[in-house]
Amino acid sequence: MSILVVGTVAFDSIETPFGSAERVLGGSASYFAVAASFFSPVKIVGVIGQDFPQEYLTIFSGRGVDLEGLRREKGETFHWRGRYHEDLNVRDTVELHLNVLSGFVPHLPESYRDAEYVFLGNIDPDMQMEVLRQLRRMRLVACDTMDHWILNSGVALRKVLRKIETLVINDSEARLLSGEHNIVRAARAILKMGPKVVLIKRGEYGVLQFSDSSIFGTPAYPLEEVFDPTGAGDSFAGGFMGYLARSGDHSERGLRRSIVYGSVVASFTVEDFGLKRLTRLSLGEVEERYQRFLALTDFHT
Ligand code: AMP
Repeated sequence: MSILVVGTVAFDSIETPFGSAERVLGGSASYFAVAASFFSPVKIVGVIGQDFPQEYLTIFSGRGVDLEGLRREKGETFHWRGRYHEDLNVRDTVELHLNVLSGFVPHLPESYRDAEYVFLGNIDPDMQMEVLRQLRRMRLVACDTMDHWILNSGVALRKVLRKIETLVINDSEARLLSGEHNIVRAARAILKMGPKVVLIKRGEYGVLQFSDSSIFGTPAYPLEEVFDPTGAGDSFAGGFMGYLARSGDHSERGLRRSIVYGSVVASFTVEDFGLKRLTRLSLGEVEERYQRFLALTDFHT
């Protein structure tokens, strides 16, 4: 089952305590698409500028990602510059240039409109809504957002939340959205806004899943070296949705497995800068780490 993703396709300039990278391929849709492509076919909706190199498009086509919905417009590509602290859970946005993204109105190719699995990546909630409006038969819609949109487009975001099944969100952003500091109370408050499931990303501490009837938690896979946490959240979402779309199993058990696959893919992303690690990752490595993850969290046997 293929997945449609809308989000940013970006140039990222990243500084971490271990080094830096200039104008590498990034963006919420990019990480999501490459991560999900290990399990399911992916279609991207987004916009790039005239400066976007062929070499980066080849990264997507090399993973079989459908680019018919990726528009090239006059102007420069979205550019984000971020700097991480010694504590890699903390990062500052140093520069944010929307460029061709400002004023972008998503227009889905006909072949995209029957998509059943949809991920509304981190982007303006009005653009997320516009994508939803053009879809005919969604089966599962998940959504991500960030502080920028919670603070500046709260009303539009609330409308989107009423239309989706699953919200994937950072812990600090869950607090901001709900006004609750305690993470359980924050999740409960967000469930009242519309989503049936809330997945709270807690960086190196893992993920918590909340629904009306259950709570599930996993740690992040413990790594000796983390080089660049950029895109971990979107890779998690990509692995999660990719596996969910492939299995079609939306039961509690199916969701839990998908969460672990998402966590496994994200653990590879952070091992190198940008998308470098994911572009040389094999499904065999994913499966092997999934087994290690099972052993890590097993307390039954
Ligand atoms: P993550 O580390 O998973 O939260 O996502 C990092 C990605 O988000 C980077 O590749 C950036 O290009 C992208 N990004 C940063 N700021 C924004 C924003 N305001 N809207 C959309 N995407 C953004």
